[in-house]
Amino acid sequence: MASISLRNVVKKYGKGKQELQVIHGVNAEVADREFIVIVGPSGCGKSTLLRMVAGLEEISGGEVWIGNRVVNQLEPAERDIAMVFQNYALYPHMSVFENMAYGLKIRKMPIEEIKQRVDKAAGILELGHLLDRKPRQLSGGQRQRVAMGRAIVRQPQVFLFDEPLSNLDAKLRAQTRLEIQKLHRELGITSLFVTHDQVEAMTLAQRMIVMNAGNMEQFGTPEEVYHRPASTFVASFIGSPP
Ligand code: ADP
Ligand code: MG
Repeated sequence: MASISLRNVVKKYGKGKQELQVIHGVNAEVADREFIVIVGPSGCGKSTLLRMVAGLEEISGGEVWIGNRVVNQLEPAERDIAMVFQNYALYPHMSVFENMAYGLKIRKMPIEEIKQRVDKAAGILELGHLLDRKPRQLSGGQRQRVAMGRAIVRQPQVFLFDEPLSNLDAKLRAQTRLEIQKLHRELGITSLFVTHDQVEAMTLAQRMIVMNAGNMEQFGTPEEVYHRPASTFVASFIGSPP
């Protein structure tokens, strides 16, 4: 397991006249096993921040720590993280089992351990009876659970979620939210969860980071953010009582 530390993290896209700074020095200390939600309006830099932690986007300034390592220069595969996206492309020709096992097979893990890991993940996600099906034979919610299963079997130190629920209808979204909470209770993996939905943030977060235009406006528990918003932006975005 691992803590995450963001130290004056900056992101600039483009070069010269085209340069655009989209993250303006974010500082945050996330404890081992915490579930943190990063929330803010579209375009405020949530995905960019997450992708820098994942190693999918170069860091323009500052440091990202995972555990006791600065990971700025590490490839995604060296960071011991797993990411769940909104567009969870599964391999259509592979069964649920094969979809979950694929990432372990290419790492040459022995088949017995692969089976153990997939069975454990399938148990947690209630996918045990679906392991032989193909993605097209699953509902949207089941597919999203397979995508989470694929991340779980890696047994990463850190989970990164980028709006994984936004393609689901309201009922499924609520259900999958519960799945994610259960997952965190059982596995206790340090998690960063990005959403633009303040209700989702308030329900899921142990602590939440509220972003606006590349700045961290507030970092606190849902109660603190709701009752003691740090700015008028936070108050109006969260809908705090006046
Ligand atoms: P969010 O996930 O909160 O919607 P993003 O991190 O996707 O926000 O984007 C933050 C800002 O960075 C936006 O202004 C967006 O247009 C810009 N941006 C994102 N990706 C790129 C890119 N690859 N090149 C240039 N600008 C980008
Ligand atoms: Mg985004």
